[in-house]
Amino acid sequence: GKADLECDLLVLGAGPGGYTAAFRAADLGLDVLLVERYEALGGVCLNVGCIPSKALLHAAAVIEEARHAQDFGVDFGKPKIDLDKLRGHKDKVVAQMNKGLAGMAKQRKVRTLTGSGSFVSPNELEVRMHEGFKRVRFRQCIIAAGSQPVKLPGFPWDDARVMDSTDALMLVEVPKKLLVVGGGIIGLEMACVYSSLGSQVTVVEFMDQLMPGADKDLVKPLADLLKKRGVAVHLKCKVARVDAKKDGLHAAFEGDSVPSETKYDRVLVSVGRAPNGAKIGADKAGVAVTERGFIPVDRQMRTNVPHIFAIGDLVGQPMLAHKATHEGKLAAEVAAGHKKEWVARVIPSVAYTDPEIAWVGVTETEAKAKGLAVGVAKFPWAASGRAVGIGRTEGFTKLIFDEHTERVIGAGIVGPHAGDLIAEVALAIEMGCEAADIGHTIHPHPTLSESVAMAAEIQDGSITDLY
Ligand code: FAD
Repeated sequence: GKADLECDLLVLGAGPGGYTAAFRAADLGLDVLLVERYEALGGVCLNVGCIPSKALLHAAAVIEEARHAQDFGVDFGKPKIDLDKLRGHKDKVVAQMNKGLAGMAKQRKVRTLTGSGSFVSPNELEVRMHEGFKRVRFRQCIIAAGSQPVKLPGFPWDDARVMDSTDALMLVEVPKKLLVVGGGIIGLEMACVYSSLGSQVTVVEFMDQLMPGADKDLVKPLADLLKKRGVAVHLKCKVARVDAKKDGLHAAFEGDSVPSETKYDRVLVSVGRAPNGAKIGADKAGVAVTERGFIPVDRQMRTNVPHIFAIGDLVGQPMLAHKATHEGKLAAEVAAGHKKEWVARVIPSVAYTDPEIAWVGVTETEAKAKGLAVGVAKFPWAASGRAVGIGRTEGFTKLIFDEHTERVIGAGIVGPHAGDLIAEVALAIEMGCEAADIGHTIHPHPTLSESVAMAAEIQDGSITDLY
């Protein structure tokens, strides 16, 4: 058929991958059309992911800090929570960023088209609009259609009390009893939010540790604090089914240690995310999609069809916004004719729980499993004056070094601001730093960042006694 619109580059999906790609490509002179099914730009990350969750986690952190202040003689009393106002704050944060993105698109003359796209050929996308269809012809395309929550079977999904992460972020109410199914990053972040707001939270995790993928020792301070705050955690435990009844959601568990409570006011299912690769008519464009819905790409983010790229959550793990943006920039530059490829060595992971948990590069578990010759240096925050001052001695900073080259190849940090602190180690790994390089860098005192240098000095042998 005849095309209604034409463009150099079509970007499908306006999440962090898609909008970054679109903006970069426009900056490089390409005529870009950005197709997004929702009116608001920003994708999962801005609308129902990273940003609203962090806005709510900030409220939770303030509540806990205020509570904690009793320990040093400052009592704010019991928090009064105006849920409408809190929800409004979160929505305002998102709306402000939505507006910013729309402005940035306009400034760059990136055209946006609101509708759901599906390929009809290797050079054409059909977009189902609010009313009618539009056919777009493109020379090149970047697929950035992201992912969505896995809907576990056996759950009464038509009951509004059964929630995925999007529902949980809507903050309809603070349930008295909340069951969180899945102890990964998203589940634990929401457990922190709801627990601080006053819910009695139970977390069940199928694996033998919370946040599988992170080292066990890194997760322990979080597990301990959750326990102290009355969050029940059950490992190696599975929810067999949930029945929706008038008086609540009734859960049946299987496993070694199952919760004694079986009736909940709400259930959050956070067991992972599934890529949207199989939902965009990729086959019509000749783009290969794996059985699980991922789109394989090369080091330039090209799919098997050379003029079609794919980025973000739908090309694979880790499903993180900063990975999507990095890939988006790369794909846009390659589409604009630059001879580039993926060069980043590591992608940091952060859980914005309390305490925060961050890791990058090789984990200790991974090093052991692969039989790598590594040195591990751990600096306990109990030896940091700053950490003692803020009452967070449970934290620690761990660096992992290649035993032969002394180069840092991994790190794990747990404690407040771990997510900010890990960036330095990511840079160190990218630059091939040795322990001595970090140790010789003067870090400001008294900051938590010193813990990175201290760990490096332990490895370097220049510190033998922590005090
Ligand atoms: P997405 O953000 O999923 O965007 C894809 C876009 O494509 C969507 O807007 C979608 O509507 C659109 N789309 C899909 N199909 C079509 C179609 N056929 N036609 C038109 N449009 C389409 N990551 C972090 O790094 N840090 C965090 O703190 C963090 N917190 C998170 C918290 C939660 C609760 C969740 C759910 C996720 C979180 N993530 C976090 C993950 C992060 O949101 C994703 O990794 C990121 O959004 C992926 O970006 P993307 O561009 O690949 O896709």
